Amino acid sequence: MKELNEYIILNEPIIRVSFFILTLLTMALLEYIIPKKELLLSKVKRWINNLCVVVLNTFLLKIIFASSAIMISIYVSENNIGLLNLFEIPFFFLVILSIILLDLIIYFQHRLFHEVDFFWKFHKVHHSDMDYDVTTGFRFHPIEIIISMLIKIVSIFILGVPVIAVVIFEIILSSLALFNHSNIKLSTLLDKNLRYFVVTPDMHRIHHSIHSDELNSNYGFNLSVWDRIFNSYTNKPKDGYEKMIIGLKEFNNKTETVSILSILSLPFRKS
Ligand SMILES: [Zn+2]
Repeated sequence: MKELNEYIILNEPIIRVSFFILTLLTMALLEYIIPKKELLLSKVKRWINNLCVVVLNTFLLKIIFASSAIMISIYVSENNIGLLNLFEIPFFFLVILSIILLDLIIYFQHRLFHEVDFFWKFHKVHHSDMDYDVTTGFRFHPIEIIISMLIKIVSIFILGVPVIAVVIFEIILSSLALFNHSNIKLSTLLDKNLRYFVVTPDMHRIHHSIHSDELNSNYGFNLSVWDRIFNSYTNKPKDGYEKMIIGLKEFNNKTETVSILSILSLPFRKS
């Protein structure tokens, strides 16, 4: 186990970045081949600015937190700390259970970002994107990214999540976030069958609707089951997938929502 942990510490950044780039390129290619909805804004401008945001957030996390989620997870595993370590769970099931519990926490964290004004200030940066494609999946304000990291570190500590589960969860979360934000057209049958298990692009697109009842539903990022269990599931948008308007009512000016400066300053501006 010690060798595995050492291998993960050494290679975790390159593993994660490789998965991220591979998924991003795959989704971008699929958006080109099977696009779902016509985009409103210039793709080049949006992509450059949204990519700047993800580069900035990645550097910030590295500077502020380095590999702290991984280090905390190694510490709790080696010292048998955390709720999950109170039970004799076979390692394989411990990893699966940890991933499911981290996903449940992400679901409630997302609800919190919608329901508490202070958090919404920052989360609305993600929703102010007037188009919906793979780059929307990483358009988050740096302060939201920092708060999310703090919640993750506390969750790993309280639960006692093993390091391999943290890495697998991070890869699943970033890959599925790119997948379910992508502007791709899946057949109705494939969408329906996938949706029993994971959040699909059509399911999550509803969450980016301009209508507040749709905006405040479909909070899940990975497993689709949480929205069904906690009564926040919307099956389809009232205006239809192709016609529905993406974004926020208060930010409908193209120049106010695209540039990196407007993205960073948006939480501090009057709508
Ligand atoms: Zn949201």
